[in-house]
Amino acid sequence: MITEKYDLLIIGAGLCGLAVGKGLTRSSVNFKIVEKSQAFGGRASTRRLFGQPIDHGAQYFTISNPKFLDWIEELEEEDIVRPWVNRLHIWNGQKFYLEDKPLTRYICPEGMTVMSKKLASVLPVSRELKITKASFKNNLWHLSTNELREIYADKIICTAPLPQSLELFENYLEESQKEKLKNIIYDACLCGIFVYPLALKPFWKGIFWNNGNIISWLANDSSKRDEPTNTVLIAHCKPDFSRQYFETAENKVLNLILEELSQAIPELDGKPQEMQLKKWLYAQPQNLLGQSYLKVNENLYLTGDWCLNPRMEGAFLTGLNLAEQIF
Ligand SMILES: Cc1cc2nc3c(=O)[nH]c(=O)nc-3n(C[C@H](O)[C@H](O)[C@H](O)COP(=O)(O)OP(=O)(O)OC[C@H]3O[C@@H](n4cnc5c(N)ncnc54)[C@H](O)[C@@H]3O)c2cc1C
Repeated sequence: MITEKYDLLIIGAGLCGLAVGKGLTRSSVNFKIVEKSQAFGGRASTRRLFGQPIDHGAQYFTISNPKFLDWIEELEEEDIVRPWVNRLHIWNGQKFYLEDKPLTRYICPEGMTVMSKKLASVLPVSRELKITKASFKNNLWHLSTNELREIYADKIICTAPLPQSLELFENYLEESQKEKLKNIIYDACLCGIFVYPLALKPFWKGIFWNNGNIISWLANDSSKRDEPTNTVLIAHCKPDFSRQYFETAENKVLNLILEELSQAIPELDGKPQEMQLKKWLYAQPQNLLGQSYLKVNENLYLTGDWCLNPRMEGAFLTGLNLAEQIF
C-alpha cells in the first residue's frame, strides 16, 4: 500500500480543479490533483475518431473576464486556441438564419482537452485515480482510492459535479449547507456523433436548434480542424429528451436524432459512416449556488461550475479565484 500526504488535495482535473492548481503554482502549498478519468478536461474533453479530434462536451467558449482573457491570449500565441465563428446559425423549424449580434466563439483546433492538458503539464496530477471514500480523523483527511494507494491531506478542494461531491462528503455538511444546495440539479445531455465523408460540406459551423423535439445544438465539428479526415457532426439533445432516453438502446437514440436532423437537412438522410453516442449524466447545473464556493469547514471546500457560471470560463475563474482567496 502506498501512502502519500499533502497540505491540499484537489479532486478533479477539469478546468476548475486545474485552475486551482494554476493559482497555487507560486505558493509553497504542497498539493496534488487527482482525476478519475484517463483524460484531462472533464466536461471540456475530446475523443478521437478516425484520428480526428472531436469535441463531444463543451463546444466553444466565449470570453468576458480579463483574467480569463489573459490566459486565452497566452494559448492563442501557441495556436492552442483560435477564434472559430462570430455569428452562429439558428434553425427555427422552417429556415436557417444567422444570429443578429456577433459574439466571438473560440475553439481548440486539436480539441478542447488541449487547454486542460496545457494546464496539467506543469502541475502535479495523477490520472485514473478515483477518490472512493473520504473520512476526517485526528485533524486529517484520509482518502481511499481505486488503487492500492491511500492519501492523507490537511485540506480538500473538491471540484467534481455536485452530486459526485456529495457522494463523498455529504456527511460533513451541516443542515443549513445542505439546504443551500438542495435546488442545484443537473440536466443530462445525450450527444450524437455522426461521421460522413468529407464530400459532405455543411455551409454552417454551428446551429442553435430552437424548434426541435430532440436536438438543441448541432455543430460541424470538422470546421474546427485544420485537416479533417471526415465531416463530423455533433448533435446535443434537449434535457427532457436526454433524461427520457438516457437508458434507451444507443442505436435507437441515434436514429431518432438522425431522423430529426434529416427532416431539416435532407443531405444527412443517407446513412453516416459511423454513429456514436456519448452520455453526460451531469451536463449542466441549474439553480446555481450564487457564490464561488461552499466552505464546508476550514478543511473542506466544494466548488465547480455549479457555483457561479456553468461554462468553461466560469469553471476556470471559480478555481483560480478560490486558490487566491484561501491561500
Ligand atoms: C454537453 C455539454 C456541452 C457544453 N457546452 C459548453 C459550451 O459550448 N461552452 C462552455 O463554455 N461550456 C460548455 N459546457 C460546460 C462546461 O463544459 C463546464 O462548465 C466545465 O467544463 C466544467 O468544469 P469543472 O471543472 O467545473 O467540472 P468538470 O469538467 O466536470 O470536472 C470535474 C472533474 O472531476 C473528476 N472527478 C469526479 N469525481 C471524482 C473522484 N471521485 N475522484 C477523482 N476525480 C473525480 C471528473 O472526472 C472531472 O474530470 C458544456 C458541458 C456539457 C456536458
